[in-house]
Amino acid sequence: MTAPVAGRHGEPSAHGPLVIAVDGPSGSGKSSVCRKVAARLGLAYLDTGAMYRAATWWCLQQGVDLADTDAVTATVHAMVLELGLDPRFPTFAVSGTDVATAIRAGEISAAVSAVATNLDVRADLGGRQRRVVDVERHGEGFSRGRGVVVEGRDITTVIAPDADVRILLTASEEARLARRARELHGSADAASVDATRDQVVRRDAQDSTVVEFRTAADGVVTVDSSELDLEQTIEAVLAVIARVTGRTA
Ligand code: C5P
Repeated sequence: MTAPVAGRHGEPSAHGPLVIAVDGPSGSGKSSVCRKVAARLGLAYLDTGAMYRAATWWCLQQGVDLADTDAVTATVHAMVLELGLDPRFPTFAVSGTDVATAIRAGEISAAVSAVATNLDVRADLGGRQRRVVDVERHGEGFSRGRGVVVEGRDITTVIAPDADVRILLTASEEARLARRARELHGSADAASVDATRDQVVRRDAQDSTVVEFRTAADGVVTVDSSELDLEQTIEAVLAVIARVTGRTA
């Protein structure tokens, strides 16, 4: 095994809370990989994309026009969002309604960028995300102070730039399209890939007008999963964590 290298704070963090920040485009395998990594390390898991999806669901539910940015901001501000951070069984509820399935609907995927590019919404949800990180770091949350894996688009750069480990999980556009097509349509033939293009290419283009998640910022380690299956990608991410912190699963 490679010897641990110093983390951002100068010392390998073999003990104490771990904050792992992972960003990447859609179809990079972030969610599946991060859930498994969190479970293997005994950490909490925060899916920030699900928070933007929940906000979108809530606005549509309330009949808000997504082009009316002030109305969207106010509606999101009033959203009571409860998150369960167990990586084996993450839960999402808005005002007591379980939205875990509803937020994965095509209608939400198609609309979410309109909400996520609203900078006041980003400030609101970003504040909630930082509070989760603080609570997990300080021992009051699901992980009892072991820490958290947070995944999204701006975690390594904006939400937790001081994380112990910062990773950009990427894959070629071809690999990402094929993965999403298999997930959504059960096949990666030409018609399924075409039907998936809006979900991946258009959404990433729109999202990247407000956050940079296609190239790694300084100090962020890139893991390219184009040629890796799920288990190999999990191992690659665990290897980066072990190298930076000395912590093994
Ligand atoms: O990761 P997922 O596809 O579920 O994310 C849904 C959407 O949430 C993204 O398309 C993006 O618009 C938004 N998002 C974001 N910032 C994050 C995480 C997700 O803007 N940190």
